[in-house]
Amino acid sequence: MTVFVVSAPSGAGKTTLNRRLLQECPTLEMSISHTTRSPRKGEQEGVHYYFLDRSSFQSLVEEGAFLEWAEVHGNLYGTSFKELERIEKQGKSPILEIDVQGWDNIKPKLPSAVSIFILPPSLRSLWERLESRGSDHVEQRWRRFKNAYAEIKTANHYSILLENQDLEEAFQKLKSIMVAGNYQVASREDGLRLCKRLNEEFETADWIKGLRTQMGS
Ligand code: 5GP
Repeated sequence: MTVFVVSAPSGAGKTTLNRRLLQECPTLEMSISHTTRSPRKGEQEGVHYYFLDRSSFQSLVEEGAFLEWAEVHGNLYGTSFKELERIEKQGKSPILEIDVQGWDNIKPKLPSAVSIFILPPSLRSLWERLESRGSDHVEQRWRRFKNAYAEIKTANHYSILLENQDLEEAFQKLKSIMVAGNYQVASREDGLRLCKRLNEEFETADWIKGLRTQMGS
């Protein structure tokens, strides 16, 4: 069983890619995390997450039920050993859609896990993606954007850096990595170069400078 860890800032297309992988690749299964956050509209217990309150989550932490857990945006999230056993029993490989703290925790325990960070082709495209969701005010979008940028800065903790410029191409590469074990499809040098470009964009782009002035931070 190969454990796949997939992280990406919100707006990088992770959910769409993972959903398609599950549809087309019967050897893969999503690991369902526990969380203390409230269900969003349309989210179902045991499908999107196992929802529970803080004290029940803490009890599970004390029992040693989690391979890893972390606080993300004020809520607790964790991957249970039980969940991985459920997937292993089916003879499948789990995909863990977790944040960078989760991966940093798992890394020493599961050195054979394959870690993938999905990068947007530019910060402009990430911003436009957040904008197209349309549900946030500009202040909230700016906060999400800055969080996304902070996550991008940790992308070098991952062994595979995958650019999602073209959804179909990114999907085919992910499939090749997860089904055929072909890790060479995403060049790490290219990924690191893209990270550098994204850093430069954050520091120098006029539209970002404008937003920073507008938001006062
Ligand atoms: P959301 O609340 O939007 O579903 O997820 C928020 C963040 O929590 C995402 O970055 C997601 O990857 C992360 N996350 C979800 N489940 C887990 C988990 O089990 N462990 C960790 N460390 N992060 C998680």
